[in-house]
Amino acid sequence: MKIKVGILGATGSVGQKFIQLLKDHPWFEISELAASEKSAGKKYKEAVNWFMTDPIPGNIQDFKVKLCKPGLDCKIVFSGLDASVAGEIEEDFAKAGYVVISNSRNHRFDPDVPLLIPEINSEHLKLLDTQNYSKDGCIITNPNCSTIGLSLALKPLLDQFGIEALHVVTLQALSGGGYPGVSSLDAIDNIVPFISGEEEKMESEPLKILGSYENGQIKEANFKISAQCNRVGVIDGHTEAVAIKLLKPAYEEQIIKLWKNFQGEPQKMNLPTAPVNPIHYFEESAYPQPRLHKNIDKGMAVSIGRLDKCPVLDFKFTLLSHNTVRGAAGAAILNAELMLKKGLIK
Ligand code: NAP
Repeated sequence: MKIKVGILGATGSVGQKFIQLLKDHPWFEISELAASEKSAGKKYKEAVNWFMTDPIPGNIQDFKVKLCKPGLDCKIVFSGLDASVAGEIEEDFAKAGYVVISNSRNHRFDPDVPLLIPEINSEHLKLLDTQNYSKDGCIITNPNCSTIGLSLALKPLLDQFGIEALHVVTLQALSGGGYPGVSSLDAIDNIVPFISGEEEKMESEPLKILGSYENGQIKEANFKISAQCNRVGVIDGHTEAVAIKLLKPAYEEQIIKLWKNFQGEPQKMNLPTAPVNPIHYFEESAYPQPRLHKNIDKGMAVSIGRLDKCPVLDFKFTLLSHNTVRGAAGAAILNAELMLKKGLIK
């Protein structure tokens, strides 16, 4: 029998992607959809402005949208809630015994909440032993959409060479701003060189993610990140131009080999949403590109290319990841799969 899951914020950009990705999931079935008072009480197809390329799954169209309040018939809630309301609602669900898997920023830096990327830091799930919401309830978060791709690219480099510092410039897709997001007059034929709060997230989250679990807490990784974030007229897929200074000398061939061979627990456990290879390296000089490569390995892989020596730092490269799949809904589903396989969902 499949495990019942609910989606909080089911009408939003991330909520819709959850519905699309969970359609034929082998372990989970959607039993509840919830959103704001504006949507609650309506049929899903009437409440949502659906902009996924597949139609709304037939069994979901007539679901009645509920309020985001405990009492939903499910064990896990995936949260794609707006950050202005996510914090308190997610706590209420955890206190009521639900496993809350969140995309929002609110609880990412709570000392007892894992900021999870299963290929990198599954041992951070030990933090759940220190949570006190209720006997079975807990909160797990996935990082910001740009941070996930960057952290996956950094992990093998950190392990092998150490990192002293890095600079990253992002070119972030419109869907990352939710629906309706940036207005068309700002988006078309334009670049907006500001995304509220994004640079702060990119400069802090990788340090928790890449930190080590020690004596019931996370000791953060110790290197400096400088981020500059831009919104560009791309629908899905965040691109990032990275320049990095390592602590030990490295050759380009070594770095590419590390990326190509990188695997984590999701691959060893063969989790349904896990990419076969979390990192794809392109030798072609004009790759990766969002339109061509965002969906590689079910949209769960990070594409990297253009590795070269950097005259200022040590190396530079370009990466791409799908912001609502690897950067949000897909990441959260992978987190739930890992927890289930590890026996952490009762
Ligand atoms: P969005 O499109 O604006 O959707 C927000 C959702 O929250 C909608 O379902 C909305 O329901 C619901 N909501 C708003 N106010 C509410 C309230 N008072 N009570 C209950 N529900 C309420 O945003 P999004 O892009 O999907 O992002 C959702 C979260 O994921 C955010 O925290 C965001 O930072 C994070 N995130 C987004 C991405 C991405 O690529 N988009 C990636 C990673 C993380 P109604 O339709 O009823 O208003």
